[in-house]
Amino acid sequence: MRDLIIIGSGPAGLSAAVYAKRAGLDVLVIEKDPVSGGQILITYEVDNYLGLPGINGFDMGMKFREHADKLGAEFAEGTVTAIETVDPGSDSKAPTFKVITDNGEYETKTIILATGASHNKLGIKGEEEFTGKGVSYCATCDGAFFRNKVAVVNGGGDVAVEDAIFLARGCSKVYLVHRRNELRAAKILQDELLSLPNVELVWDSIVEEVKGDAKVSSITVKNVKTDEKKEIETDALFVAIGIHPLTEAFTGLAEMDETGYIIAGEDGATSTPGIFVAGDSRKKRLRQIVTAVADGANAVTAVQDFLVGK
Ligand code: FAD
Ligand code: NAP
Repeated sequence: MRDLIIIGSGPAGLSAAVYAKRAGLDVLVIEKDPVSGGQILITYEVDNYLGLPGINGFDMGMKFREHADKLGAEFAEGTVTAIETVDPGSDSKAPTFKVITDNGEYETKTIILATGASHNKLGIKGEEEFTGKGVSYCATCDGAFFRNKVAVVNGGGDVAVEDAIFLARGCSKVYLVHRRNELRAAKILQDELLSLPNVELVWDSIVEEVKGDAKVSSITVKNVKTDEKKEIETDALFVAIGIHPLTEAFTGLAEMDETGYIIAGEDGATSTPGIFVAGDSRKKRLRQIVTAVADGANAVTAVQDFLVGK
């Protein structure tokens, strides 16, 4: 029986692991992917984390994991598929939990859910068919395949704009297709994007279809104001239209909003005593590395209080 199981080893889970080890808790971190670090692994540059301007996302993930390793945090590989509450029996002790993964089961007194988020799909014709053949959700991972070629990025947030900037360094031409005429991304990113000569913005438009033969050759774009449609010849479509929380396995266990974000305050305490949430899967205003690591630290403090019955 562990004191604490942390599910997910992105910034929130790794920060929680560091704080838990320093608090002397018997903690296990369960991660589904072979590498820790979460979403930052696929970003080429993180420029807003205090003290580490311009750090590569993968390197940052490695640094976070090394810190947890240095303190002796224990890790297990597996996808958590369910959590069961274990009845404490007749005495008045708090319930405990069984964490079920595709790789084994673990018992624990408390849990921090730090499963973060994943990218959304467009759900349009050709998207599935051409995934890996020109349709991608990760510019850092796949951008190099389109050196001196044309790429389209769809979205108007930080990820879309960062992707377009990144791709513009190697591609001959980059189109950014956005459904409104105003970007959501940080001003500093917008300014950089607008200064690039090989980037063209396609405003008020949505991507309706991806076309090609063996690989992507064009997309159909519709202007949402005029309903006018046009074809853009391209070798790639990078979809960057936001994220959704990875919390499906916890449905019914902790109160969520309509999109699956788990409802909790700064201490991460969910509607189920003993279960806490940290990072991008928590309902909150700002989803960033700095807020994820802060969540991890706060949740461990709340776990400690819970374990001593405060
Ligand atoms: P995540 O990073 O999503 O980590 C969650 C972890 O949980 C993952 O490792 C996942 O594999 C694991 N997991 C999920 N489900 C399960 C399960 N069922 N069982 C076991 N393990 C599971 N923020 C910034 O501050 N600055 C930036 O420059 C920046 N750039 C970004 C660029 C990109 C391309 C993206 C996508 C995001 C960026 N962000 C940036 C946002 C930042 O990455 C997130 O806010 C942060 O990673 C959230 O951390 P997290 O630990 O909550 O979740
Ligand atoms: P986001 O901020 O939610 O932006 C999603 C974008 O996609 C929005 O512009 C949205 O349009 C558009 N969109 C949503 N659904 C769409 C659809 N079905 N069709 C077409 N367009 C659609 O998501 P994100 O850019 O992926 O960022 C995720 C999180 O990571 C954010 O919290 C972000 O701040 C963070 N992040 C931060 C940094 C950084 O700080 N440098 C870098 C990367 C990511 P509307 O604008 O019209 O809603």
